[in-house]
Amino acid sequence: MNGRHSAPVPPLTPELSMRVQRGELMSKHTSWHAGGPADLFFMPRDVMDLAAFVRQLPPETPLLWIGLGSNLLVRDGGFRGAVISTQNALQGLERVSETRIHAQAGVPCARIARQCVKWGLGPAEFLAGIPGTLGGALAMNAGAWGGETWMHVAEVEVLDRRGRRHTRTPDDYEIGYRSVKGPDEEWFLAARLDFELRPGADESAIKDLLERRRQTQPIGEWSCGSVFTNPPGDHAARLIESAGLKGFRIGGASVSQKHANFIINHGAASAADLEAVIRHVQRTVVDVHGIELTTEVRIVGVP
Ligand SMILES: Cc1cc2nc3c(=O)[nH]c(=O)nc-3n(C[C@H](O)[C@H](O)[C@H](O)COP(=O)(O)OP(=O)(O)OC[C@H]3O[C@@H](n4cnc5c(N)ncnc54)[C@H](O)[C@@H]3O)c2cc1C
Repeated sequence: MNGRHSAPVPPLTPELSMRVQRGELMSKHTSWHAGGPADLFFMPRDVMDLAAFVRQLPPETPLLWIGLGSNLLVRDGGFRGAVISTQNALQGLERVSETRIHAQAGVPCARIARQCVKWGLGPAEFLAGIPGTLGGALAMNAGAWGGETWMHVAEVEVLDRRGRRHTRTPDDYEIGYRSVKGPDEEWFLAARLDFELRPGADESAIKDLLERRRQTQPIGEWSCGSVFTNPPGDHAARLIESAGLKGFRIGGASVSQKHANFIINHGAASAADLEAVIRHVQRTVVDVHGIELTTEVRIVGVP
């Protein structure tokens, strides 16, 4: 089948069918502003609504859950299956004990960071500069400045392919640097996160970290943050810069001049441009340094 043809639309109840968008461009939902149409695109109202939607899909329909699309490259042919966007739903955030919070998957990481400071809890400041949702941070084990999401996870709530909810603990996952492997075909609904009491905490640490980012990263330009993970004992940015790749450009995409591990969409880059820059960087770094860079960004969909 030609990858651009949509998969057959599954039978949904008339109510859900009216709310599902067909052919929604993923460029509208990714921080790279690139990516083709999704066969189905669904924004749930809450967990029950989301479970009802998942239950109605044939089990073979591929599912892509997204938060703020800040670590996602969807190819230009789009996604054959159903995309579920949590960003306007699953917004619950509460303190459930002295040192434990409960946050739903759609809550932006920055909101968790700020709210923890207000509650006198920490260290959650590292989450302030991660422009994604908690769901994405759980899927990626997002981290910065020495902090990592899963350092704080006590439990997660997940939804399985049949719309059933389960509670899992970190022991159910293999957690690594920007890597989380758990049971197949389950997605994050929420987490209970533990922090320490930090009475008197204020937002100055968050402001400092954001300022350090502004000085070293091309904040405000269209990117997905760091494209590659750091290889053991080295930095992807150093390897890319010393291979002479800063500013390397294909179409509307180029390696950032400010931070070599960022690839920028200057406005009109296709996903193919971005992926071509990624592959060129990988090939060149192998040639120059003999090191294979692994992408941190998740690449999905058809060309
Ligand atoms: C300017 C900039 C700076 C960044 N800095 C950092 C940084 O310092 N540290 C860092 O770690 N990352 C950083 N990132 C990358 C990104 O913000 C993080 O990886 C973030 O956690 C992704 O969250 P998201 O909600 O946008 O996920 P998305 O990009 O929407 O999705 C990423 C992956 O998570 C999966 N996913 C999303 N939601 C769920 C869910 N509910 N259940 C299961 N899977 C899900 C998706 O399917 C996909 O595989 C940066 C990005 C940008 C643009």
